[in-house]
Amino acid sequence: MSMSEFDLIQRFFTRATPSALLGVGDDAALLQASEGNVLAVSCDMLVNGTHFFADADPYLLGHKTLAVNLSDMAAMGATPRWATLAIALPSADEEWLKKFSDGFFALAQLHGVELIGGDTTRGPLNLCVTIIGEVPAPQALRRSGAQIGDEIWVSGSLGDAALALAHRQGLTVLSGIELAACEKALHQPQPRIALGMALRGIASSAIDISDGLLADLGHILESSQVGAQVDLLSLPISTSLRRHFSQLLGKQCALSGGDDYELCFTAPRERHTELLSIAAKLDLPLTPIGKIVAGRECIVHDGSGKPIKLEISGYDHFR
Ligand code: ADP
Ligand code: MG
Repeated sequence: MSMSEFDLIQRFFTRATPSALLGVGDDAALLQASEGNVLAVSCDMLVNGTHFFADADPYLLGHKTLAVNLSDMAAMGATPRWATLAIALPSADEEWLKKFSDGFFALAQLHGVELIGGDTTRGPLNLCVTIIGEVPAPQALRRSGAQIGDEIWVSGSLGDAALALAHRQGLTVLSGIELAACEKALHQPQPRIALGMALRGIASSAIDISDGLLADLGHILESSQVGAQVDLLSLPISTSLRRHFSQLLGKQCALSGGDDYELCFTAPRERHTELLSIAAKLDLPLTPIGKIVAGRECIVHDGSGKPIKLEISGYDHFR
């Protein structure tokens, strides 16, 4: 690289880290969890060609690299505090680095996250963030707590990111306005941090939807050893997706499209009104989409209450 590795780290990835005892520049950072909390730690990698295209806007890629990790904190009900960034770059392209780090830090700042370390090497573009958050141990939102009778909820709307991809793959044609909205969902997901924190002590289980609703709800069902009934017509979808909903593609986007980064969670029925007021307070739609039942299966019903059979499953890198 023309710029030295250390200049690069200094210029693009070193910002103040007032809440770490020690940040970037030593062999390791030093962190202290605040009293009464445990650390929530998670790691997510974005690989060129798998998670994004080589021509991806670097600012948006910086945003998304952190956003997908923040989404895991939201799903645990954790307050994000610190992150590390391991990055492999084909070259030290200053313009690219400037935009990437601006996108990364804009979202970091919004959520009070400090970048406290990382690793920088030359290689095919690859981005890996480790995120560290805090949560009072008993209130962490696990996948394993769903109870029979609980309502199943999702935040925001489903399937727009997948619809943007479908457009790009030539499977449908969106209007300019529709495409802009769906691409925003794909490239600029908003991690539901405030919601995750508001769900502490309310949700019985939670997960973020990264591989599609059915796949991720499936993880809750497996961990909690329960089944689910989901009402297809209750799924929160945009008007663009509604236009496709009579076709298989539309249903696929909502049920198994990846990259939503909304939360799917369960809560006892008694919490219903409380959840609606959280939705109002956060200005974020929360929609009940079904209920937890005995068994292990997830059954999707259509309007008539008939179970529908869909050849749909979530995204799996090895299938
Ligand atoms: P080491 O050789 O001990 O692994 P490095 O030379 O890789 O140390 O890194 C020097 C410092 O810069 C460390 O504190 C490391 O955490 C930090 N760092 C390296 N790459 C990044 C990056 N992309 N973003 C933030 N910090 C980084
Ligand atoms: Mg290193």
